[in-house]
Amino acid sequence: MDNYLDLMRARREQILERFYAALDRAGRPHDAASLIAVSKTVGVDETVAAIQAGYRHFAENRPQELVRKLTGLAEHPELPEVRFDMIGNLQTNKINAVLGSAELIHSVGSLHLAQAISSRAVRKIEAGELVGPQRVLIEVNVSGEESKRGFSPDEIRAAAGELAELEGICVQGLMTMAPRGNKDVARRTFAGLRELRDELEAAHPDLNLPELSCGMSEDFESALEEGSTLVRLGRVVFSPEFAVK
Ligand SMILES: *Cc1c(COP(=O)(O)O)cnc(C)c1O
Repeated sequence: MDNYLDLMRARREQILERFYAALDRAGRPHDAASLIAVSKTVGVDETVAAIQAGYRHFAENRPQELVRKLTGLAEHPELPEVRFDMIGNLQTNKINAVLGSAELIHSVGSLHLAQAISSRAVRKIEAGELVGPQRVLIEVNVSGEESKRGFSPDEIRAAAGELAELEGICVQGLMTMAPRGNKDVARRTFAGLRELRDELEAAHPDLNLPELSCGMSEDFESALEEGSTLVRLGRVVFSPEFAVK
């Protein structure tokens, strides 16, 4: 793991340099966005190395893996505290495993799922097992790709009022995934997410959507230039083979 830790440290320097340069180009302050290390493809040891390299904010895309990482890290009380978010498809029967363990659930892609999280969170709050509403983001399929999950822009326009009123959850922003392989389309997807957020906030004064979760290993700089507040980086953080430009 020593070599891996050295690699992670060097990689982190490179990533942060690009991260801050992108914010500079957009005239945004350096604390306008956070970098999330997506640890879904690595084990507890690599996650420990990432913490030692300086990362404090992580995300997982499967509930079982979130639990595995939290359990594994509990055996390292010497490490600083870190935060985990949930970014993947969430089945209703797995919600209870994630409630309270994930600080933010980025992947609420249907009204049905939002309602299911809401009712379980209300129950947990009443039982004293959850301190406050679960923070969530709404996943939107901005690019319209068939393969992508999430609300279509029209669906979220129709459902936003109802989402804002659900108890037990607090909607804090929007999340999207850009299509792979085309930088112009990716940038337009990120800009589209920001414009949709502005439109929803204007239409619903009770909705406050400061968070925009977008940008991954291949496109995080353009996401930051378009207003992302949470970039989710997997391969560029953890994979020695990933080509860093
Ligand atoms: C895996 C994953 C990422 C990270 O992808 P990379 O291209 O490896 O940076 C980001 N967001 C979600 C939802 C993911 O599933």
